[in-house]
Amino acid sequence: QPVLAIVGRPNVGKSTLVNRILGRREAVVQDVPGVTRDRVAYDAQWSGRRFTVLDTGGWEPKAEGMAAAVAAQAEYAMRHADAVLVVVDATVGATATDEAVARVLRRSKRPVLLVANKVDDERLLADTASLWSLGLGEPYPVSALHGRNSGDLLDAILAVLPETPRETYSATVGGPRRVALVGRPNVGKSSLLNRLTGEDRAVVDAVAGTTVDPVDSLVELDDQVWRFVDTAGLRKRVNFASGAEYYASLRTKGAIESAEVAIVLLDASEPISEQDLRVLTMVVEAGRACVLALNKWDLVDEDRRNELERELERGLVRVTWAERVNVSALTGRAVRKLAPALRTALDSWDQRIPTGRLNGWLNDLVAATPPPVRGGKQPKILFATQASTRPPTFVLFTTGFLEAGYRRFVERRLREEFGFAGSPIRISVRVRE
Ligand code: GDP
Repeated sequence: QPVLAIVGRPNVGKSTLVNRILGRREAVVQDVPGVTRDRVAYDAQWSGRRFTVLDTGGWEPKAEGMAAAVAAQAEYAMRHADAVLVVVDATVGATATDEAVARVLRRSKRPVLLVANKVDDERLLADTASLWSLGLGEPYPVSALHGRNSGDLLDAILAVLPETPRETYSATVGGPRRVALVGRPNVGKSSLLNRLTGEDRAVVDAVAGTTVDPVDSLVELDDQVWRFVDTAGLRKRVNFASGAEYYASLRTKGAIESAEVAIVLLDASEPISEQDLRVLTMVVEAGRACVLALNKWDLVDEDRRNELERELERGLVRVTWAERVNVSALTGRAVRKLAPALRTALDSWDQRIPTGRLNGWLNDLVAATPPPVRGGKQPKILFATQASTRPPTFVLFTTGFLEAGYRRFVERRLREEFGFAGSPIRISVRVRE
């Protein structure tokens, strides 16, 4: 079902409004300030239509990082929701934080509704006109507390909310392929981006949303145009007072989800860390193609190199299939190898194996190495099919449970036979009675 995201700074009455939309009387449990949690989604229904309400204000930053943090929420909402509701406090008017949010949302390709909350009496109604200055269209006056106009607001929401949710990467059809450049802080993401765009475009900015940069960058590599997603976030040096890691990981997750392939950048001169592995896990779990780029190769001597290979062997068990390039954003070393690696990974991600070929290969495999006996029974693999691409997903129909070890064996052999370099693959088992 379609998703409506609610954004706005603290204390504008978001929770009360969420309750109005949900038609509940009791207050949603108040967020505990400083407690990190992910976004919260609720099911809502109005006039027979169902939709999801996404409250993005899960964590309330200290005052000094406010504009940046709320703008980051807005950025997330814009990329992941089908419509965005931005809430401001009519009794206060547009604050600097509201303006930062508006700057982000004005770029939105999705509908945005501006809600002026706390309009408890007629007198305040006139004041809401000043909110036109936010450039988000007509302000919608409501009183979430008293319920004033909330029915009209719900009608307005349904009018702009599409019937069917957007597809994550529908924009890719025919357009440039979408790349996320991700990695923990200081691995050299913005240096590499600057190297790839061939000009120094790094923008130093204290507050998110103050730049007129587009969210994505079109980058030409190897005679092909690529869309690097959410690079505005990369170029900015956003320093949140606290909770920086929470917002950095939110942003990374968002970028990965809106891309088809991720370049995971690691710093080859430093030990592979937990944080590096978390980014990789995000890519695998999102089912995106992956290129591992080991940056700062100019700093790697032979000792470090041997050490690094051991670290990679230990740490990358889940992504042994990833394409790998050793680069230096500083010297430009091997940077031109990125485009071929991206292409290989995406070809694998898109690859479809014809059912006949798949089953011919599988029959031979199972004849040579049958699944292990369980509970005195020999499970038989009856048939396999590739249910989807992006990432390639296979379904095995069997007469019994297949052990994880055997599934991994099948995956390994599948890769040996058909390639799939740079792409995760998924295998599910359906037991037929
Ligand atoms: P980000 O946080 O991932 O965007 O990382 P930056 O691009 O800001 O880079 C962090 C630091 O690493 C900066 O001081 C860069 O100059 C440095 N750096 C980036 N790439 C390289 C590289 O290939 N070699 C070396 N020696 N330093 C690099």
